Amino acid sequence: MDLSFSLDLSRIAQEKEEPLTEEKREVLRDLIIIGAGPAGLTAGIYAGRAQLEPLILVGKSLGGQAASTSEMENYPGFPDGIGGMVLTEQMAAQATRFGAEILYEEVTRVDLKVYPFLVETHDQTYRAKALIISTGTSPRWLGVPGERQFVGRGVSFCATCDGYFYRDKTVVVVGGGDSAVDEGLYLTRFAKEVIIVHRRDQLRASAILQKRAKENPKIRFVWDTVVDEILGESGVTGVRVHHVKTGEESIIPADGVFIYVGLVPNTRLFEGQLELDESGYIITDKRQRTNVPGVFAAGDVQDPWYRQTVIAAGTGAAAAIEAGRFLAEKAYEEKEAKESSHMEGR
Ligand code: NAP
Repeated sequence: MDLSFSLDLSRIAQEKEEPLTEEKREVLRDLIIIGAGPAGLTAGIYAGRAQLEPLILVGKSLGGQAASTSEMENYPGFPDGIGGMVLTEQMAAQATRFGAEILYEEVTRVDLKVYPFLVETHDQTYRAKALIISTGTSPRWLGVPGERQFVGRGVSFCATCDGYFYRDKTVVVVGGGDSAVDEGLYLTRFAKEVIIVHRRDQLRASAILQKRAKENPKIRFVWDTVVDEILGESGVTGVRVHHVKTGEESIIPADGVFIYVGLVPNTRLFEGQLELDESGYIITDKRQRTNVPGVFAAGDVQDPWYRQTVIAAGTGAAAAIEAGRFLAEKAYEEKEAKESSHMEGR
């Protein structure tokens, strides 16, 4: 079904109380899903099977944070684990099989005050009768000198992508959560030494990961230590650190630095339009509804608590079911309104 057509812009202009200057060609879709991590792709599978022909707009790359996870051992159904990239590629194939369209277009602006909602990308303007936001999170930067300068030349946020380049080298991993420890373990496949620098003397990571890391002879921990600068010339040569209790400064020589100090939600597009919490996560109710009827959110972008792939997938499924219900109700209301105006016109 080709849903492209010239919208009745006079109605939208009326709603916005803005004069209509020129006729724009826009593409109307029943459901647009913004973001293609496990939440967005699972929403695509469910919405596809519900015959909603969803459009999934991928930002920079498919799979989100999950795709940069080297090995997932806790996603149900894979007793031997599965790579995050393989898993999300399979999800995308499954969504496509059921009629979802996946386009590599980055959303630059949304307007949720008009209906159908406006979604702009660099190349296209869309209107959507329902929206699912699953834009996920991005890695948090340390914010120290040298970090931006050496990205791609020794500073990395993705062990799966860049670990291979550190064969027989020494790498520093910054952080003490699941990501730091999990990806630190992954890096031991290549590096001769992995030094985990953590700002406290206790890890936040799960017990099983802690045990593995502590038992791994290639991993060394540097506790109570904060990175102040990433050092280098053409590439990284080390990090300058200080001990938080003694204040003592030192340099740890290293060929690469992998930064895993948490995640920040990708919600800049929705600021001032959707209710966000104090950290910028979208606030949803138990049915994945945001404060704007017809706009749903799923996955890490609305989950500061768990941030697990299986939960992202689950909320994606829920958001798609709710979006389907919303669209069915809307269609019913529109039909009723049309029938009553037809009756009045008689
Ligand atoms: P996280 O759990 O928020 O951990 C961030 C780590 O970075 C913490 O140890 C924190 O220290 C440290 N940190 C934060 N800001 C820092 C700074 N400015 N300087 C130095 N250190 C700093 O983030 P994550 O590890 O990326 O995990 C995110 C979510 O994904 C979690 O819910 C996690 O469970 C999940 N995840 C799960 C798995 C898995 O199940 N295998 C794998 C990856 C991620 P403090 O501890 O002192 O706060």
